[in-house]
Amino acid sequence: MVDPFGRSIRYLRVSVTDRCDFRCVYCMAEDMQFLPKRDLLSLEELDRLCTVFIEKGVKKLRLTGGEPLVRRNIMSLVRSLSRHIEAGRLEELTLTTNGSQLARYAGELADAGVKRINVSLDTLDPERFRALTRRGDLAVVLAGIDAAQKAGIAIKINAVALKGVNEDEIDDLIRFSHGRGMDLTLIETMPLGEIDGDRTEQYLPLSLVRRRLEETWTLAASGHRTGGPARYFTVAETGGRIGFITPLTHNFCESCNRVRVTCTGTLFMCLGQEDARDLRAPLRASEGNELLAAAIDEAIARKPKGHDFIIDRDHQRPALGRHMSVTGG
Ligand code: SAM
Repeated sequence: MVDPFGRSIRYLRVSVTDRCDFRCVYCMAEDMQFLPKRDLLSLEELDRLCTVFIEKGVKKLRLTGGEPLVRRNIMSLVRSLSRHIEAGRLEELTLTTNGSQLARYAGELADAGVKRINVSLDTLDPERFRALTRRGDLAVVLAGIDAAQKAGIAIKINAVALKGVNEDEIDDLIRFSHGRGMDLTLIETMPLGEIDGDRTEQYLPLSLVRRRLEETWTLAASGHRTGGPARYFTVAETGGRIGFITPLTHNFCESCNRVRVTCTGTLFMCLGQEDARDLRAPLRASEGNELLAAAIDEAIARKPKGHDFIIDRDHQRPALGRHMSVTGG
């Protein structure tokens, strides 16, 4: 699959549920209305959809959400998709998780060929963690990280940098992550979906964070690339890597190789644009995959050149109405 700008689409992110057991303040409103379960693709349909993408050249598949590990029976999908790894068609099967269910699933994930995962962790302070996630338990997440590492799964920690919330903890997050052999990626808040708070108050430019970090740490630009939007640096003092994802201050679209499918089968060609293509109807219209494959081709031909996120300071409106939990970031 090659889009009109010559970018080869090899990375699919699939949001398997919009539900989450946390309500992170920058991500969701307290009283989120989730989709009725009947609107969701079944796990068999998700498998079929992913398989068609893999047949069309996707090499990396990431399950996300919502919280992917709260979808009932999710491991049956993971196990089923792992056949593509065994057959050499898929290079990587991975997921992004808040870690709350990891202690339970780490062993099974490793058995299914999951070698690396991203765990979202914004603070190491138990009370802050509870306040930020509105219901999470830090100790449970830390136990999940332990279990995953014990199972041999490599972890990258993702932390959203939030003004006045965790900006004083970035050094600790570096020490924690690198001390356990995990990379750390910092993410700027993106203006997606209505939340209860004011996003302009949460926004912390990573250019500022980086300048501050350079007072304590020696950062050397690293050639490390994951095909994603992060720019990496090596921290001389720890030997670990720190990545910066800066959607508002830096345009990372020129090398974008990814598309996203929601749990209802909607294909988004860009995280920062509204344009989407329904794949559920062609998926359900026939038992063969021709209609589905044609719909995917038609959508890839519309993949936009880039996004234009902007936090609307005058009207306090998000740039896009949908929440990150719809497309999974
Ligand atoms: N539940 C899983 C998790 O916590 O990683 C997967 C879904 S979550 C939506 C994926 C990532 O998006 C998390 O790292 C979360 O912190 C981040 N995120 C959510 N809303 C965001 C926003 N408005 N701006 C930037 N990152 C956001």
